[in-house]
Order: sequence, then C-alpha cells, then structure tokens
Amino acid sequence: MSEPILLTPGPLTTSAQTKAAMLSDWGSWDGAFNALTASVCRDLVEIVDGQAEHVCVPLQGSGTFAVEAAIGTLVPRNAKVLVPDNGSYCKRIVRILGYLGREAVVLPHGEQEPAAPARIDATLKADPSITHVAQVHCETGTGILNPLAEIAAIVARHGRGLIIDAMSSYAAIPIDARTLPFDALIAASGKCLEGVPGMGFVIARRAVLERSGGNSRSLAMDLVDQWQYMQKTGQWRFTPPTHVVAALRAAVDQYRAQGGLPARQARYAENCAALVSGMRALGFKTFLPDALQAPIIVTFHAPRDKAYDFGEFYRRVRDRGFILYPGKLTAVDTFRVGCIGAINADVMRQAVAAVAEVLGEMGVRDRNPA
Ligand SMILES: *Cc1c(COP(=O)(O)O)cnc(C)c1O
Repeated sequence: MSEPILLTPGPLTTSAQTKAAMLSDWGSWDGAFNALTASVCRDLVEIVDGQAEHVCVPLQGSGTFAVEAAIGTLVPRNAKVLVPDNGSYCKRIVRILGYLGREAVVLPHGEQEPAAPARIDATLKADPSITHVAQVHCETGTGILNPLAEIAAIVARHGRGLIIDAMSSYAAIPIDARTLPFDALIAASGKCLEGVPGMGFVIARRAVLERSGGNSRSLAMDLVDQWQYMQKTGQWRFTPPTHVVAALRAAVDQYRAQGGLPARQARYAENCAALVSGMRALGFKTFLPDALQAPIIVTFHAPRDKAYDFGEFYRRVRDRGFILYPGKLTAVDTFRVGCIGAINADVMRQAVAAVAEVLGEMGVRDRNPA
C-alpha cells in the first residue's frame, strides 16, 4: 500500500481531485488567485448561512492560529471570557487567553460530560462582568458533542459575545447563523471540508469586526487588518497559502456536488457507526456513551491485556495502511480513531479488520479497559 489512510482529525485523507488541484502555481497578486480567495470565502460564509451579518476572514496557519487571532482581535483587552471546559481544546483556549492577557473564567466539566447550559446560564447570571463565552463545539480531544444551539441562545439572552471553536464540526454538523447567534466561529481548511491543512478562517460578525480595530497586539494575527487589506486589494496580507486555497476550492466544489452538509454528516455518521460496531465486536469499549458521541472522532479505551502496547499496535496497523491517533486523556489510557476525510464505511470496516489481525498477532486477548 503506497499511501496510508489517515484516520486522524486533520490532516486527513483527501480525494485525488483535491490533491490534483495543487499542481498549479498561483501568483499572490494575480487576479485569478484573488478571485479564488473571494469565491472560497463567500462559500465558507454560506455553509453556516451567515451572509446577512457575517464575513469570512481567512488566515495563514493551522486552526489554532485562527483561534488565537479571533480571540486577540475580537475580544477586547479588558474582556472576561467564560470557558466551559470538557477537554483539551477547551484548555488550549484557556492557554491562549493567558498568553493574550485576557481574563478567563474556567467552568470545569468532566471529560464525559457535555458543557452544561444550566451552569453556563447560572455563571453568566452571577457574574455580569463576564463579557464573552468561548465554546468548543465538538471537543476533538474525546469526540464529545457540546449542545451549541442551547448555549448560544443562553449567551445571547445575557447579551454576551460567543466565540465558537467549530474546527472539527464545521461543514459536518449544522450551525445556522440565522438562528444561532455568534460573534465568531473558527474552523480550518483541513478538517471536515476535506481540504489540506494550512489555512484557518474566522466567520466573524461584521459589526463586531468593525469595532475591533486596535485590539490585536500582533500584526500577523490581526484579523481587522487582514480583512481591511483584503477588502481594499483582494489580496492577502503576506504570502498566502496558494496551493491550500486552490485545494480548498476543489474540496468545497466536491462538498457541494456530493450534497453539502447533509451528505457529509450522513457519511461521517455511517463511518462512525461502522467503526464503533466493528470495534465493539472485537471487544473494545468506547470512552463516551453513544448519545454524547459526535460522528467525528471516537475515543476507545486501551485494552488492559499485558500484550497491548500502543506504539507496537500503531506500527502494525500502520503497516496495514491505516494511521491511528493517540489518546489525549491523562487519567485513562485510550486511543482515537477519526471518522472524517475522503473515506467511507467500507474503509472503516477494512481498518477494523486490520485492527483485528494486529490484535491476533500481538496476542491481545483481553480487550476490556483497565
Ligand atoms: C483541530 C482542532 C483545532 C486546531 O488544531 P490545529 O492543530 O492548530 O489545527 C482547534 N480546535 C479543535 C476542536 C480542533 O479539532
């Protein structure tokens, strides 16, 4: 097998068409490339039905760069940000707030507990000085889905701003800007859109962006500067990730041709169901109950059998053509398997078959959690 299938939540397996879109070079000043950027940005806003009040500001870099830029630009320096924390990407936001000198209020949750709307409501009621809530939609550290619509309604009712890290849910789990109010939603090229990594983007409320000039203490991460320059010139400030944008254009075209969000959501749900049922048949236990599981990435408990070793397991599964993902939990030994990318349920079944062979070879008989 030449190229392994990436069962990881970005970078992920891309289609041949998306890869082929990277075979041309583009001039960053050229009108054709500017038109490409503009068309991609238009479509990215449309995916969340945000045309009325939101604009897209793209940014070079991985998803975290865009999260940091959104907070640094759209959250004023004297703001106070509530972070419902049920996993590693929530904790990353808290770290970003610390680096940027924005006050954070952490609302701790268990990693098997979805962000609790009632607790967010009570916290906002008790502390009127909290100006924003930063909410991760699908917490990729475990794969848990947080009740975003409910939380957005509460944040709006209290008149606070909402920053959404929708990195691993955007384009696969519905978010409708017409009914779900937010100041900023952050995602990236290399997740459920099935582009290649290298570009993040912020779907920002235009009115918020317009009053956010001067907030950013970083030039490269200033979304207002990026947006204004792009509006004026059609160009990116600084060298754009040209091939990434071209691949994303191709990926969005395929996304639409395949039936858009409902089709993507259905395919990922089938992938997730095939994976979970296959792994359960082998004796594995999922970390999350099905009701909390987003169809994006699944965390499995490591088997307690002494013959199991993740490094060895990983290498052998990789030799059969599938790249797994280590766990991200400190308290429990786990590993993760992504359901996203240009793959279908047949691929997931092949991956499960590879896992079964490897367990046999390694002599891992007891697949129960420790
Ligand atoms: C992937 C991801 C990010 C961004 O991670 P990068 O490694 O910077 O691309 C942020 N939040 C969530 C929930 C993610 O899944």
